[in-house]
Amino acid sequence: MATIGFIGLGNMGGPMAINLVKAGHTVKAFDLSAEAVAKVVSEGGVSAQSAKDAVTDADFVVSMLPAGKHVQGLFVTGDDPLFDHVKQDVLIIDSSTIDAATVHNVAAAAEARGIGFIDAPVSGGVGGAKAGTLAFMVGASEAQFAKAKPILDVMGKNIFHAGAHGAGQVAKACNNMLLAVLMTGTSEALNMGVKNGLDPAVLSEIMKQSSGNNWALQVYNPFPGVMENAPASNDYQGGFQVDLMFKDLGLAMEMSQQSASPTPMGSQARALFNLHKVNGNGGLDFSSVLKLYQDQ
Ligand code: NAD
Repeated sequence: MATIGFIGLGNMGGPMAINLVKAGHTVKAFDLSAEAVAKVVSEGGVSAQSAKDAVTDADFVVSMLPAGKHVQGLFVTGDDPLFDHVKQDVLIIDSSTIDAATVHNVAAAAEARGIGFIDAPVSGGVGGAKAGTLAFMVGASEAQFAKAKPILDVMGKNIFHAGAHGAGQVAKACNNMLLAVLMTGTSEALNMGVKNGLDPAVLSEIMKQSSGNNWALQVYNPFPGVMENAPASNDYQGGFQVDLMFKDLGLAMEMSQQSASPTPMGSQARALFNLHKVNGNGGLDFSSVLKLYQDQ
């Protein structure tokens, strides 16, 4: 069993850390929020007094932070960077969704000091984090991937080696851009059908059994009442926030700009989520984008 420093115990990181505790690892938990730390400690985690305290003597460090600036600040550029305090043979697994450019910077700084740092963003949401069924998209060397795999297996079901450093974030940006396109397209079609007299459940079933079938229709229907367990049937509470989808689409657009990859559908989806966000819906689940199409 390993000693794991876990930093960032929010909606995702909290349950991920708890799964590591339940698997028998020693988890030294740190977050800026004492309440978030207390939740992990109540399940058997060890309270770390600081980020430095969490990583000193750790075999692995897992970070689950909001954005690239937090990751870069914590490990490399902050007042007391953690790269100064980790063990030489540590493997740092950053599961935050951040830009690939920051990953390259942080991984290069790590390599220069002989420290292992990999990107391993996730898909599967808070439900997947709690159930330990996340998909991990990993950017790492073969040896780093092999070393990380037993730890990731505890928190996820599908562990993919996407390629070298940064490849995990590229895969994540592509996936979430496609998800945004599918959710807006599904909302558009459902709204048009309903405005033309169809029952949303009947139309959903028809499209699910036809060539329009997609993930939103299968497990995440945006129309309230069609799918009992979907956020749409719970006033769009829980799930994956519009604010986070908007952030992810920003990362995808940066990537499209830097690589001159045409992404007209992703760009349109981002514009729609932006409008939906400025209408005050940033805290709702992203399937609430359906509201943008509906008569108010
Ligand atoms: P969150 O806001 O709930 O949690 C982030 C946590 O990081 C907070 O508890 C915050 O206090 C802590 N934090 C910030 N800076 C810190 C620092 N310097 N030191 C210690 N702790 C610090 O966010 P979340 O929903 O858990 O998302 C985390 C990451 O996972 C994001 O990059 C997000 O895009 C990604 N993600 C989220 C979901 C989802 O459904 N929520 C799904 C996939 C990926």
